[in-house]
Amino acid sequence: MPEPIRIAIVGIGKIARDQHLPALAKDKEFRLVAAASPHGTVDGIPNFRDIETLLQAGPEIEAVSLCMPPQFRHDAARAAILAGKHVFLEKPPGATVSEVEQLKTLAAEKGLSLFASWHSRYAPAVEAARAFLAAAQIKTAGINWKEDVRRWHPNQAWIWQPGGFGVFDPGINALSIATHILPPMFITAATLDFPENRDAPIAAQVSFRSADGIPVAVDFDWRQTGPQSWDILAETDKGAMVLSGGGTKLTVDGKTLHEGPEAEYPMLYRRFAELVRERKSDVDLTPLQHVADAFMLGKRNVVEAFFD
Ligand code: NAP
Repeated sequence: MPEPIRIAIVGIGKIARDQHLPALAKDKEFRLVAAASPHGTVDGIPNFRDIETLLQAGPEIEAVSLCMPPQFRHDAARAAILAGKHVFLEKPPGATVSEVEQLKTLAAEKGLSLFASWHSRYAPAVEAARAFLAAAQIKTAGINWKEDVRRWHPNQAWIWQPGGFGVFDPGINALSIATHILPPMFITAATLDFPENRDAPIAAQVSFRSADGIPVAVDFDWRQTGPQSWDILAETDKGAMVLSGGGTKLTVDGKTLHEGPEAEYPMLYRRFAELVRERKSDVDLTPLQHVADAFMLGKRNVVEAFFD
């Protein structure tokens, strides 16, 4: 086995603690050697306030994982690439499409790996859903991604600010799966509900159509209390497919075809290790492009103010 890839993690918040640190701790392909965050720290390794100080004064590293809010990701990624590091981008890979395109070009020029990760694509039943749909004729499809923002994103100010995406922060996870399992599609109409005191939407209804006319109706809502829905549905000639639980379970006409244990982040790091060893990049911006299109085409509704 080759030497582990020496990696630093930047942006020590919820996702870094919940997923990246446990995944890295078990992964023999990586050795976590440093962290950087304005306030958060990781025990047992050197910690820095920002990526610039880490890159100048920190231990030798080959790669960084960037887990801060999207508004800060580009500058950190650019600094890391210019310093010769491979880069793992949390989702969404940036706050705009063109900034990530530029990172892709820069990484290619420097011969470094850039990974725009989409964790939901690695949910256990996603590949089974993709295989089912590839062998079926799809008549209609839909996405219901409805959750309680107070439960999942308490007091995350950045998520309501420009570039934080609002309900499209979880919604882009649905789009990352949909763009992997459904035929290519584009937005034909959208309505975005903005709380009167916020700069990002709390709900969105988006209509897509595939090139050959399959309608895909998308409903994102952050005001769902009680049971939460993270479902992708399709009516097909082979039955009614439901990919539920954010990609964890696949049923057709009510019969379970696939259900598996969740291992999204271990799989993401396996993929990143492959990319680094092969000096390749994996940057699919289709989900981000759809979010940009929804903001571009969407009608804006003002709804009641939201308070955490
Ligand atoms: P979070 O809990 O608010 O954590 C983000 C952390 O980033 C903050 O704690 C802050 O660290 C740090 N930060 C802020 N500005 C920074 C900068 N300029 N440089 C470095 N670090 C900075 O948010 P999160 O939920 O972890 O989400 C972060 C990203 O992960 C988002 O893009 C989100 O979409 C994605 N994600 C989240 C989840 C989830 O379940 N929460 C799941 C998958 C992906 P300090 O505390 O040190 O100030």
